[in-house]
Amino acid sequence: MTEQQAYDALARVMDPEIPTISIVDLGMVDEVRVHASHVDVALLPTFLGCPALDLIEEAVQKAMPGAVVTFRNDPPWSTDRITEAGREALRQFGVAPPEDVVRCPRCGTEEVLSENLFGPTRCRSIYYCPACRAPFEAFKAI
Ligand SMILES: [Zn+2]
Repeated sequence: MTEQQAYDALARVMDPEIPTISIVDLGMVDEVRVHASHVDVALLPTFLGCPALDLIEEAVQKAMPGAVVTFRNDPPWSTDRITEAGREALRQFGVAPPEDVVRCPRCGTEEVLSENLFGPTRCRSIYYCPACRAPFEAFKAI
């Protein structure tokens, strides 16, 4: 397996909570090392306290049998690591990507209301779009 093939396999591993975005587009993949016998994958946990690291490890091993997954906190993951494709994938899922200005993922307006600071997880907060008459979640920039 080449490094490119390893990345291609990782690009098929979706985030368990947001199944439209891969761990590559989330910017979780810090390092990939291809050995004759196996592949070492170093991942950055996206948010402290966010669940699903076990699920992600299992999914990586399913996509790449024999992969050895480690999680590291240095460098720290930040929302800047999310790729353009990843931001579009978040919008398609109905979640506003982390940006300076929160926009409705459906219509793009900035005229949105903050519903509260505590979303369904510590990673996300809830907003309401008056134009769409619908609530949506926004990723918190960190
Ligand atoms: Zn809207």
